[in-house]
Amino acid sequence: MNDYTILVNHEYLLPRDYVPKNLVVTDENENNFHHYKDPSLKPMIRADVLPYFLKMQKAALEVGVHILIDSGYRSYDYQEFVLKKNILEKGDEAYATVALPGASEHQTGLAIDIAYYRDGVYTDAVYDGDKEVEWLKENSYKFGFVLRYPKGKESITHISYEPWHYRFVGLELARKLWEQDFTLEEYYEKNGK
Ligand SMILES: [Zn+2]
Repeated sequence: MNDYTILVNHEYLLPRDYVPKNLVVTDENENNFHHYKDPSLKPMIRADVLPYFLKMQKAALEVGVHILIDSGYRSYDYQEFVLKKNILEKGDEAYATVALPGASEHQTGLAIDIAYYRDGVYTDAVYDGDKEVEWLKENSYKFGFVLRYPKGKESITHISYEPWHYRFVGLELARKLWEQDFTLEEYYEKNGK
């Protein structure tokens, strides 16, 4: 078993000092998620995962679907900052929408939030029914990615449906999860951790 299959959620937290060793910038465009917060931040993922994403991006482009990475790696400290900011704004409600530091998959360097280019326009408004969302649902597993927080599985993942959030788990596990319609939580519940 390799570390592509790591389970990170509200129960299984990453330590503060966990930083993937081989992060690479995936996109130089100036529209990404981080750019709004800090222009020096660019989307990054693990270098060993990037070829899988690029293959998926290319396959999608061939059918007129242009996907990009809006956000990849996010540090423990960044997550802590976001949570504190949200607590100041919304109080305890923040805990319902923002992951605890260490509980965000983005810290693994294996998770991505998707955006699109449509008719030359960048958008990070990602909705069910969009051709990009539908293409990814049917095809991402072929490239090792899974829709991590599906509709109808909220009580299992403890996270609302996120059509934009994909997680690299490797080709083998991605196919299994897709075929069995399982989340990572369900897979480990059945097969042991
Ligand atoms: Zn995400």
